[in-house]
Amino acid sequence: MKKEEYRCRVCGRKISREKYEAFDGLCEECWEDEMTEEIDATEGTDEEFVPI
Ligand SMILES: [Zn+2]
Repeated sequence: MKKEEYRCRVCGRKISREKYEAFDGLCEECWEDEMTEEIDATEGTDEEFVPI
């Protein structure tokens, strides 16, 4: 019988099924990174609009 394994699709690290389902296939760290990047990207768009 094959053992169930869940791995983060970003870093490949083994994660629990609960985390896999809760974080959409990511480990907690990559999930947080992704959330942070999304926030940065949104804020960055406004801040980077500098008229020459
Ligand atoms: Zn990860």
